[in-house]
Amino acid sequence: MRIVQEKCKKCLECVDVCPVKTIFQKNEIVEICKSGCLECGCCASSCPNNAIEYE
Ligand code: SF4
Ligand code: SF4
Repeated sequence: MRIVQEKCKKCLECVDVCPVKTIFQKNEIVEICKSGCLECGCCASSCPNNAIEYE
């Protein structure tokens, strides 16, 4: 999964929904820790700004 930073409004909906907490805010940027990501797509579905894409 990839976050399109230009579209991200830092609402943190994706952080709340991730079942394994591999998406988080750090230094004012929302990031995904790819090693633990399940590619479940929950974060992408939750994003109101369509800022998360499959790679
Ligand atoms: S795809 Fe799933 S596991 Fe990966 S960051 Fe998004 S919600 Fe979390
Ligand atoms: S849900 Fe979308 S807009 Fe909100 S913090 Fe996550 S990536 Fe950014």
